[in-house]
Amino acid sequence: AALYRIDGWGAPYFSVNSSGNVTVRPHGAGTMDHQEIDLLKVVKKATDSKSAGGLELPLPLIVRFPDVLKNRLESIQSAFNSAIDSQGYGGHYQGVYPVKCNQDRFVVEDIVRFGSSFRFGLEAGSKPELLLAMTCLCKGSSESLLICNGFKDLEYISLALIARKLSLNSVIVLEQEEELDSVIEMSRKLGVLPVVGVRAKLRTKHSGHFGSTSGEKGKFGLTTTQILRVVKKLEKHAMLDCLQLLHFHIGSQIPTTALLADGVAEAAQIYGELIRLGASMKVIDIGGGLGIDYDGSKSGDSDVSVGYTLEEYAAAVVEAVKFVCDRKSVKHPVICSESGRAIVSHHSVLIFEAVSRSIYSSSSSSSSTSLLSSPFDVQQFGEQLPEEAHSDYHNLSQSAIRGDYEACLAYCDQLKQRCVEKFKDGSLGMEQLAGVDGLCDLVGKAIGASDPISTYHINLSVFTSIPDFWGIGQLFPILPIHRLEEYPSKKGILSDLTCDSDGKVDRFIGGDSSLPLHELEGENGGRKYYLGMFLGGAYEEALGGVHNLFGGPSLVRVSQSDGPHGFAVTRAVAGPSCSDVLRFMQHEPEVMFETLKHRIEEYVDDEGGMAGALMAGGIAESFHNMPYLSVGTCGLSAANG
Ligand code: PLP
Repeated sequence: AALYRIDGWGAPYFSVNSSGNVTVRPHGAGTMDHQEIDLLKVVKKATDSKSAGGLELPLPLIVRFPDVLKNRLESIQSAFNSAIDSQGYGGHYQGVYPVKCNQDRFVVEDIVRFGSSFRFGLEAGSKPELLLAMTCLCKGSSESLLICNGFKDLEYISLALIARKLSLNSVIVLEQEEELDSVIEMSRKLGVLPVVGVRAKLRTKHSGHFGSTSGEKGKFGLTTTQILRVVKKLEKHAMLDCLQLLHFHIGSQIPTTALLADGVAEAAQIYGELIRLGASMKVIDIGGGLGIDYDGSKSGDSDVSVGYTLEEYAAAVVEAVKFVCDRKSVKHPVICSESGRAIVSHHSVLIFEAVSRSIYSSSSSSSSTSLLSSPFDVQQFGEQLPEEAHSDYHNLSQSAIRGDYEACLAYCDQLKQRCVEKFKDGSLGMEQLAGVDGLCDLVGKAIGASDPISTYHINLSVFTSIPDFWGIGQLFPILPIHRLEEYPSKKGILSDLTCDSDGKVDRFIGGDSSLPLHELEGENGGRKYYLGMFLGGAYEEALGGVHNLFGGPSLVRVSQSDGPHGFAVTRAVAGPSCSDVLRFMQHEPEVMFETLKHRIEEYVDDEGGMAGALMAGGIAESFHNMPYLSVGTCGLSAANG
């Protein structure tokens, strides 16, 4: 477990039990009375055949733990409550969940349900998000905020106003100055008085990846001049009372509380000024940015780590708002935050299988093993090399005799390069080229330079399931979810199913370029090797595409229970089938099937129609199944080192 830093990023939810399996404690640290859930048992339950008591879901699989969501919400609420109590703050904390982080219906419904006792609300950034937030909040507290962010047209604005009419606490946050005219126009038309917020473009700038849109030149929000014009216009229309909320967002993964406090203090100044100018301000909405410690280092010096706890985050916010408001003699506002990553990241685990392994170096180890086991005639090999390569070969031999290993490696490179050129111009055969590769591998091994890294082929699409790794280099903890009592003797990178060289994971938390992994125990029928990607509950599901037409994973929702294994699966859904993903790209699976069936009738000339029926059945099944490998029936070829 130490190899994978699980104690750093996993606490209090994930750890390893005495059988070497990853376990989940969904209620966090304070609930030792609950039995830990063995993740391997969940995977077995989800994937075993129905006859073995399983749900027969294909991998990859997302395992959701709603109890983790509950714990995250309660932890954030309690961190703010404590800061408010201990600092004598006069307002309360009332958060919202930005649905863009994971719009899954059950995730959003769970958040509304778990948070309704403390008026937890939702944030939407588009019309469909607003529609889902309105619907879900019908079951929440009527005081819960419904923050309407994002670029808005008349339709978006009218939806937000209708929400107010339906007794939902919607706030239209102006992202652009022009939106105000539409708000005034639509509110007159619908006869609904809006509650308006402004998003301020702060001068405080977050320097990490996610801060590229913050600061004065940031993409979003209103400048000081624009905010003043909004105030004037609202005043002119006798609507200044409607302006009640100030919002800002300095970026996701805020690295330090110093930066956070700086931004909050700047916003609190604007908040105080708006009160001075006559607005009926009530809420300061500090946006998202509460970070996740993906690598467990707590260093706060990169996009994968933050250097503070939840409690420190809340304390810094409360202190900064209080300090400014007290100095300006302004009533302490309600503090709202839009934490997304910090709420949903931990609650889901992506499980996938490594199906085969091959050596990542230029030639496979099987070729070097055969060279090793067969007597390798160095003299004869040298003679077979083209004339131009003789000097490289001679130099290589001489440096080996001298024990100059650095020179050996350099001459190997030179020899290889020259032989590849000769192969390309047709003057070197394939056997000689393979011989050169083999010789260089032998040299590397003999001098201990090669530390072979294997490629583990994984039944997954990186583009669909870990898009942030591909798109912005975001690192997530990845590790085997079992066999952790056994030392992982190999090092590997992960290569996915897509026909795309970017479809791989070759950088890991801690800055490592390979992952400690175990030897596979026999493919196609041997013991399966399951890996888990953790902390990916935010953004990954919505961002993932259908590259190569791989769709999303299967899904199970798991709650703690008193049963024999301590858990119950409360929802299980297979991922999109080939038909589903084809439909996504405008194909019509039914018509496609008919076309292929006619083709069978035309081309398959078999008596009794048995072969044709078999083929049609096979095609029908493929439409119905998920696009991933059905391991055991086909599987990637076992290029095992
Ligand atoms: N609010 C706004 C306006 C955002 O743009 C974002 C995401 O970048 C969030 C909230 C959520 O941020 P995070 O997931 O870092 O909490």
